[in-house]
Amino acid sequence: MSDVRVAVIPAPGKDVEIRTVPVPDLEPDSALLKTELSEVCGTDVHLQRGQLAEAPYPLVPGHVSVGHIEKIRGRMLDVNGRAVSEGDRVTFFDVHRTCNQCWYCTVAQARTRCPHRKVYGITYGLEDGLCGGWAEKIYLKPATQVIPLDGVPTELFMAGGCSLPTALHAVERADIRFGDSVLVLGSGPVGLSCVILAVLRGAGRVLCIGAPDGRLQTAQRVGASGTLNFQSCSEAERLEWVRSQTDGRGTDVTIEASGDPNAVVQAMRSTRDAGRVVVVGQYTDAGSATFNPHLDLNKKHLDVLGCWGSDFSHFHRGVELLKTEAAQRAWSMVELEHFSLSQANDALAAVAAGRCIKAIISPEEGEG
Ligand SMILES: [Zn+2]
Ligand SMILES: [Zn+2]
Repeated sequence: MSDVRVAVIPAPGKDVEIRTVPVPDLEPDSALLKTELSEVCGTDVHLQRGQLAEAPYPLVPGHVSVGHIEKIRGRMLDVNGRAVSEGDRVTFFDVHRTCNQCWYCTVAQARTRCPHRKVYGITYGLEDGLCGGWAEKIYLKPATQVIPLDGVPTELFMAGGCSLPTALHAVERADIRFGDSVLVLGSGPVGLSCVILAVLRGAGRVLCIGAPDGRLQTAQRVGASGTLNFQSCSEAERLEWVRSQTDGRGTDVTIEASGDPNAVVQAMRSTRDAGRVVVVGQYTDAGSATFNPHLDLNKKHLDVLGCWGSDFSHFHRGVELLKTEAAQRAWSMVELEHFSLSQANDALAAVAAGRCIKAIISPEEGEG
């Protein structure tokens, strides 16, 4: 077999470069995936800038991907116990080696905080094997959780990408009830997925504050009843806008999916007394924010919840959801912009600047 072209971040702050690596030998019960599409998300921008403490360089980014199983050695079973076959079109859960034995997995039942977990394309580097999606092939290590994508078109799955399980976790943490008013702060892929899921959960009014306008238009198309570009107004004006649409009280639920530390405080202030705030956008350490514990938290009788990553249940149920007509209609409105492997730096720049809704790497695409 010929060598595999991969896009590599060689070191923190360095541009992505193309390398060629040999096809790996397969361990028992592992597989080789021929990559069809892999996503580019905000995490990859953080990786390139060296903002994730645990990332091992050089590394091949791309943690959520779809491909065809090219070769299996031994057996790979899906969660239903069915054998995965060569030729199957699948995705796989990017988190690997959640141990299901440690204190966090078993006693706290917080599997996303398992200290043993590794993530393809984030905490697995090139030294760990072909473990990132910006590559012609991906090595699926033994015990990787593979999901056949029957009934879910590849592009549609990628429109959800990593944002779908992340948002699904956040929306479930938010415990949105029928008719609730919901504010989503942030209009990137996670914010848009939160809007869609809030609507699917039966929220009454879903508001979204973000930028740029193109993303806010998508937020409206997928069901937001009101959007506001935060760049065009002050914090006080944003708060006034939210209150004007919620009988002066603020929203029942606010989900922060923006990455800006100050948005957490804004989320607290935008939420009604005795409401709920879920913070899902602070995936990297972007600094501190200050709030008034009396006015912004205690007196408001507020629930403020953090939401870290997703476990296999969120990933699996995200795929199941994408088999429904309502979900397919919503995520089909999230536009993908394709980049070839050698355009990976352009893809990162586009994501960092918010120039595209969702960037995708197509390793098979012709290089021009
Ligand atoms: Zn564990
Ligand atoms: Zn991601």
